[in-house]
Amino acid sequence: MQTTWAGKILHEYECIESTNATLASLATQGACNGTLVVADKQTAGRGRRGRSWESPEGKNIYFSLLLTPAFTPDKASMLTLVMACAVTRGIGQALQESVGLTAVSPKLPKPQIKWPNDILLNQKKVCGILTELHISPGKADGYSVIVGVGINVKSQEFPEDLAGKAGSIEIETGVCLSRKHLIQLIMSAFEACYERFEAAGDLSLLMSEYNEQLINRDSQVKVFDPKGEFTGVARGINAAGELLVELPDGSMTAVYAGEVSVRGTDGYV
Ligand code: ATP
Repeated sequence: MQTTWAGKILHEYECIESTNATLASLATQGACNGTLVVADKQTAGRGRRGRSWESPEGKNIYFSLLLTPAFTPDKASMLTLVMACAVTRGIGQALQESVGLTAVSPKLPKPQIKWPNDILLNQKKVCGILTELHISPGKADGYSVIVGVGINVKSQEFPEDLAGKAGSIEIETGVCLSRKHLIQLIMSAFEACYERFEAAGDLSLLMSEYNEQLINRDSQVKVFDPKGEFTGVARGINAAGELLVELPDGSMTAVYAGEVSVRGTDGYV
């Protein structure tokens, strides 16, 4: 790693249930800030709200990064968006490097973000991010945050229920990236993005970068809130990472990521 702290301590596994679960257990054993768990395969990869993450071996990236922040736990959910910026920077840079090295088209798609935690290429989901908060038993103010990332790098096929929604970097661009190099780029990008987040105490220094890549920006979206479903036009995130949605009456509402899903009016985006 060409980083100061992110991923400097690395635990690599061939096959584990979930990188988030393994890192949570390492955290209880005293693992330090920046510890990275990487696996070649997960047997029980996790997504948000108890969903699963398809994690076949030998093709993709599954990693989790441990953070022991000084800020209060209510800010932890914003780290999903910090990681989303780092992943788009990493994928974008890796693809850019590939242009000119091989006969790759210079018109490669740019990674985009579907709020709050998905990264897409050509409207296909190639990455999901899952942030989990762990309160350390016995320590009043002790807590850690685990940011888990799954990236479809070389997968060529997906189970039926994901067909039409999921894609991989290789399918969408024709570029076969080195998984190791991509992780290095993302760790370096994460350090830089995290520094901005810590300096501001919120996402104000990353907001414009995030919003530029937001796939639903200025489009009609359906918001699936447990309190009720509604539609509106997505206008971008605020400094807290909430999605600002303009309602039909012209008023603006801020949607908090916790239990909410956003969709395009006709499909996934
Ligand atoms: P959604 O993708 O429906 O907006 P989400 O952001 O809450 O939901 P995640 O936590 O990112 O979901 O990931 C879990 C969901 O992603 C699963 O329910 C499944 O639809 C999809 N999924 C699972 N594995 C993969 C994969 N390898 N590539 C792309 N999508 C996947």
